[in-house]
Amino acid sequence: MYYLDHLSIEGFRNYQHQKLRFHPCLNILVGENAQGKTNLLESIFYLSVNRSFRTRKDHELVNFKSPFFVLKGSFIKDEFKHQIQVNYQQNNRLKVMVNNNHVNRYDLMQNYPVVVFSPDDLQIISDGPSIRRRFINLEASRLNPTYLKELRDYQRVLNQRNHVLKEKKSKAEIIDQLTPWDHPLTTLGVKLVRTRIEIIKDLEKEAQHFFNKITLSSESLALDYASTIQYIPDAEEMRKQYYQKLMVLRDQELKRFSTLIGPHLDDIKIFINGNDARRFSSQGQKRTAALALKMGEVSLFKQNNNLSPIILLDDVFSELDSERKAHLLDFISANAGQCIITTAVDLSKLMQNLSKEHKLLFVHQGSIIDETIRAGY
Ligand code: ATP
Ligand code: MG
Repeated sequence: MYYLDHLSIEGFRNYQHQKLRFHPCLNILVGENAQGKTNLLESIFYLSVNRSFRTRKDHELVNFKSPFFVLKGSFIKDEFKHQIQVNYQQNNRLKVMVNNNHVNRYDLMQNYPVVVFSPDDLQIISDGPSIRRRFINLEASRLNPTYLKELRDYQRVLNQRNHVLKEKKSKAEIIDQLTPWDHPLTTLGVKLVRTRIEIIKDLEKEAQHFFNKITLSSESLALDYASTIQYIPDAEEMRKQYYQKLMVLRDQELKRFSTLIGPHLDDIKIFINGNDARRFSSQGQKRTAALALKMGEVSLFKQNNNLSPIILLDDVFSELDSERKAHLLDFISANAGQCIITTAVDLSKLMQNLSKEHKLLFVHQGSIIDETIRAGY
């Protein structure tokens, strides 16, 4: 059993001071628009991932009237209490502790997993490649012990290399400075691409399972890792060819002042019925694919780590038709882990189909004003 038991929020978004307890199974947070529903889920996600699912700018998370935020979450895991504390002070480094010990981000994400479902998931299908790279980076960081470090190292090397390419020096001088970065770039790049390909293959299988269920197998879903580097089964051979391609691109890179191949430019192609979903699918088809991807993400993590992530569902029911609502409810019912659902509409009818015991929480202007526990209907 793994769940968030107690949460304390200080100075985060529209919460000044808030303490609350959750039900180990199902929690429904009800509130009108702009009261703090998504903000609450954001704080829980931040505790586990040290990032928001809405913004890359941490300073936006700090309450307008506060110079810092502090989040504390008591997670129960195998009957032990684990206290995660995150302190953020503007212009200072983030401090993250578990039971008063410093931890790295990978340990945190892997040991206290949280997955969020939000209407914005649609962007994974319909937006540009960078959002899908962010998606796969988060997935791979959770599933592969060395990925996050390799990703950081790759980004550092890439930044150094691009910095050299932008310098106003002679061609010979630039090539001289570029050369030491070529080898680390290709070594790290190959590792990232191979891990991503493996994960996409596994995720495709899981997502297909849910997609087939939702569409009653009348439509098909496929994922493909579209790389600027050619995949070759032998890793060293793959690196060599990548390196050769980099050499061929040398002159173009000098003209364009940036690194022109590598995982920082790759994409994940998503196909529905064989067509590129981004360009040809309807909104409904995209929503189904996004939902299936998220469900796949949860079940892949469960398989790999033998732990059910805490699922945060931000206002997703209002976006789905009755068929998909029913599938999502089935998924929640079958899910062994904790769920925290936010809603601005009355979900009581929907919840009648759920036999799970749950807790209702009400949010109004940045404070949780009432709590009741209801036994399953
Ligand atoms: P909806 O149903 O519309 O999605 P919500 O309950 O999910 O609403 P949130 O996004 O959680 O709403 O909260 C929005 C409120 O939080 C807004 O009123 C916004 O002004 C406020 N807010 C956002 N960031 C901050 C911040 N850094 N400091 C204070 N208030 C903030
Ligand atoms: Mg919201």
